[in-house]
Amino acid sequence: PSYEIGTIRERLANWVEASRPYAASGCVASYIPELAKSPHHALGISLLHASGESATAGDCGNRFTMQSISKVFTLILALMDNGEEEVFRKVGMEPTGDNFNSMLKLELVRPGIPFNPMINAGAITISSLIRGSSPEEVYRRILDFLRVLAGNQRLSCDEEVYRSESETGNLNRSIAYFLKQNGVLSGNVEDVLDVYFRHCSIQADCSDLARMALVLACGGLDPQTGTRLIPRRYVQIAKTFMTTCGMYNASGEFAIQVGLPAKSGVSGGILALVPGQYGIGVFGPALNDKGNSQAGVHLLEVISRELDWSMF
Ligand code: GLU
Repeated sequence: PSYEIGTIRERLANWVEASRPYAASGCVASYIPELAKSPHHALGISLLHASGESATAGDCGNRFTMQSISKVFTLILALMDNGEEEVFRKVGMEPTGDNFNSMLKLELVRPGIPFNPMINAGAITISSLIRGSSPEEVYRRILDFLRVLAGNQRLSCDEEVYRSESETGNLNRSIAYFLKQNGVLSGNVEDVLDVYFRHCSIQADCSDLARMALVLACGGLDPQTGTRLIPRRYVQIAKTFMTTCGMYNASGEFAIQVGLPAKSGVSGGILALVPGQYGIGVFGPALNDKGNSQAGVHLLEVISRELDWSMF
């Protein structure tokens, strides 16, 4: 690893600068009005090795909201709270091939059950399965969990993005009420949505994502202390969903071009990992037509090719 991290440190800034121009053809997400303020040409990356060595380049200090990246961890928490059987009674295990916020296929996999926990319908259902006596307590448990995984007690919600999404989230509201009507969501719909909007609005930087990813890369163990933070089986499930559905309806292409488990979000973040070795956090807010960071995906393609990281 010390040889490889040396190479990475030497070349990472060049790879970032070679990828940055790709942002020009992308678009910053604007359906959540507050996200439209993101810096179009920003691109940053942080890599953290299991040994504790790290490498960073570009705008890796920028903070951004986790958005759909948080879905990986709410899934894990729901599994830890309820077990596999209970969770998969409410959400499926199959990719959709549709956009992340699509309602099209809600009625097709077993009646009314969302296809998987990475699309909005599935993630909203997952939010309803996390234990807590109030929406505040449920959100607090999610935040505390992310703080432990990131090794950063300062993670918190970006109130502006939260408010912006909550005020304009009519499509997610429709999905949630549809799920309620079908008996998939239990509890108060607005409370579930509030938890969902809040966990999507948790702010992090590339190093936070890299640390969270490294826990997954280490099979659920704290990379520093060796303490088990997540049961191995649930890490396996999460990494599988990342591979099959983590990059929206470009997950197949990403598996071919990069070949690593990853999850992206509409803020332009990507969390990826090299099993047993690295946690990776990327930020590049200009998105391609599939909703993934345009320059960020290019950067991961270059690195994976150069270092022969594909799992396949
Ligand atoms: N909070 C966003 C939404 O529900 C998350 C979308 C995403 O990152 O894919 O629209």
